[in-house]
Amino acid sequence: MSDDAQRWKSKYLESLEQQESLEQRWEARLDLLRRGLVRSSLAAEGSDKAVDSCMQELRELLRRNDIDAGMSALIPRLEKAVLLSEKRREERIEQNIAGVSKLASQLLAMDLPRDVRRSLKQFSRQVEQRASHSSGIPALLSELGTLQGQVLETISSDAPRPGFLQRLFGGAAESEEEKLQSAAVVSESAVPVPVPVTDSDDEPEAAQQSPQNAPESHSVVAAEPVLAQVAAPTVASEVSQGVTSSVEVDEDLADAAGSEAVFEEDAYSLPDPLEPGYSTVAPHIAESLTRLLDELELPAHHLDQGQALRERIYGGLNWYELVPVLDDIVVLIRAMSNTGEQEFVSYLKQLNQRLESFLGTLSETHEGYSESVESVRSFNQELREQVSGLQASVQDAVDLPSLKESLEARLDGLLSTVVEHQKTHEGREALITQRLQQLTEKVAEMEQEAQGFRDHLEEQRQKALIDPLTGLPNRAGWNERLELEVARFKRYGGELLMGVLDIDFFKRINDTYGHQAGDKVLRIIATELSKRIRKTDFIARFGGEEFVLLLPSTPLEGGRQLLDTLRMAISECPFHFRGEPLVITLSGGLSAFTSEDEAEEVFERADQALYRAKNSGRNRIELG
Ligand code: GH3
Ligand code: MG
Ligand code: MG
Repeated sequence: MSDDAQRWKSKYLESLEQQESLEQRWEARLDLLRRGLVRSSLAAEGSDKAVDSCMQELRELLRRNDIDAGMSALIPRLEKAVLLSEKRREERIEQNIAGVSKLASQLLAMDLPRDVRRSLKQFSRQVEQRASHSSGIPALLSELGTLQGQVLETISSDAPRPGFLQRLFGGAAESEEEKLQSAAVVSESAVPVPVPVTDSDDEPEAAQQSPQNAPESHSVVAAEPVLAQVAAPTVASEVSQGVTSSVEVDEDLADAAGSEAVFEEDAYSLPDPLEPGYSTVAPHIAESLTRLLDELELPAHHLDQGQALRERIYGGLNWYELVPVLDDIVVLIRAMSNTGEQEFVSYLKQLNQRLESFLGTLSETHEGYSESVESVRSFNQELREQVSGLQASVQDAVDLPSLKESLEARLDGLLSTVVEHQKTHEGREALITQRLQQLTEKVAEMEQEAQGFRDHLEEQRQKALIDPLTGLPNRAGWNERLELEVARFKRYGGELLMGVLDIDFFKRINDTYGHQAGDKVLRIIATELSKRIRKTDFIARFGGEEFVLLLPSTPLEGGRQLLDTLRMAISECPFHFRGEPLVITLSGGLSAFTSEDEAEEVFERADQALYRAKNSGRNRIELG
């Protein structure tokens, strides 16, 4: 072989060797790549169905070594599936962020101690960044759990004792955020806005909620001396206390403007209750009340009342109608058990026993008296016999000594009879005096008891005339006074007016701020109204959010002015909820009695006038 050929041969062999080693390296790399792909495909599984199925297919292709055709068909599908999966992952992250942020802001909407509020705000700010990796979610949730625990702890230690029903039935707390979202204008003329509940730590607009921007709250200070002076007896202490002393730091305002930005708490601040939505306890309450009614075994004349109550219970009860239903059940139970009647019966039994013992003493005294009459009679008889014996002795006497002897004997007998009689008589007298004394004491005791019983009955009667929520007379109290005033008017003439006042959009107050706030509004309005009327005027809670007035000796124009003053006073009350001012208004109707009128007709006219006031925009008084 020539040199040239030899060179070519060795070059060829060298290339062959190189080729083989290249092929080996290629195979090794391919194998590495295959194994890598299989591992990655296994690792990538579980996040998305479409991607998973592509991955399975990929492994199958690798196993079959169908790399060229199979892979080129699979890769575009895999790319699409991965893109879609990525999009869905981003959506999930956004949902996670929104969910966790919502939970945090719901907690922030509550009244919280400053440190808990601060941690929550810090947490809220970090949510977006930390939740962008799904690996961050568990840590976020666990942190939120801890913060929520702290919030609940403050609620359970700070919150007022839950109401009776809450304790009885438990139930979930109403969403604070929902309440805030629905917080709105109560009167059409009012302009309150929901309080911003987040970011007040660092957002400047929160500072705009400072007291300078809450003019109604300033009017609390202006109203202070008036309130303190003329506080009405029933609920006044609550009003004056709140106005003169207590000061609450509003968390958001204080956060925003430092410790100087305190908000004056006052009697018009509406409570911020955590109460379960009625629907959470409705079936339980309906069932328990119906069972209670079933167990009552109502007598025939109470059956209709029982049936009407059942219909009310199942006809869509809510927090506000629950109380009247419970009241009516109480009335029914009381009527059934007839506590008053039983008390009266036991009093009569007692009286009877006393009368028996009284009669016993009386007959003993009488017996004593008869005995003493009898003894006087026999004493007379004896005396008469002794005297006639004496006469006989005188007539029969034959000489002086025998006369003297028999006279002495007779006189001795006479004397001892008199002494004996006197003794018995004195004994009896003492006994009779003693018995009379006992009788007098018994009569006095009985009189005292009867008086106590009368007082008790009167107290019960008075209680039944008062509305426990507002301390004003209730419908029964109203009827009693109405009868009296109408009788007086008919007899003496003069002027008599009847007014009806109704709170505007009261249902919204309940719905927005809860029924405890509604109750407080009722109490405050009752106080504000009653302290502005004359002693001779009369105001009662007619029911719900409706008040009725009787104004004797008042001309129609004067009455209209009074009702307008009342209306304005209420609209100027600095009510506020969480530091946010709230205007509450009244509408009213007024009508005068004429000599032909029955009370019902006047009421009808005043009510119609109220109806017109409502229809003409509310917050006004109409005459009827
Ligand atoms: P309008 O201006 O037409 O009078 O509207 P309104 O919402 O005031 O009248 P509506 O009769 O629709 O609602 C009265 C509400 O008052 C409904 C009832 O549940 C509520 N209410 C009645 N009694 C009480 C109570 O003792 N306490 C509370 N908190 N609410 C009550
Ligand atoms: Mg109303
Ligand atoms: Mg009404």
